[in-house]
Parts: sequence; structure tokens; C-alpha cells
Amino acid sequence: MTSQARAAERTVAGLSCSEVLERLSAYVDGELSAAERAHIDEHLQGCDACTRFGGEFGTLVKALRTQLGAPED
Ligand SMILES: [Zn+2]
Repeated sequence: MTSQARAAERTVAGLSCSEVLERLSAYVDGELSAAERAHIDEHLQGCDACTRFGGEFGTLVKALRTQLGAPED
């Protein structure tokens, strides 16, 4: 994580962006419980900062947001 990414961090649905990013690979691999996935879904739908982390995370988050029906920005 760069300091720039940390500056953009938000807390949505009880999770900070960095917590979401830490769990993202487990999310994609299906290793999270339904409750954990629901929290991440809620965060991604309510948080446009995650897409600004860039790189593979940004691409992945954008794909997930599209899948969840969250508006693109
Ligand atoms: Zn976020």
C-alpha cells in the first residue's frame, strides 16, 4: 500500500478499504463466510475509493462492483 492509497481510505459497512483489500483474494477464492462476503459486498457498493487503489485490486474491485450492480465512476 502506498501512503496515497491510505489517504483515500474510507470505512463503509464496518470495514476499512485496507481490510477489504486484505480479504479480497480470499473473497475471490470463495474462502470467506457468507457474512464476511456480505460485508465486503456492502463496502464495495458504498465505497468508490476502493476502485482508486489501482492495479489489479482496482480492476478486481471494478469488476465486483459491476457484478453487484453498483454504479461505475
Ligand atoms: Zn473502500
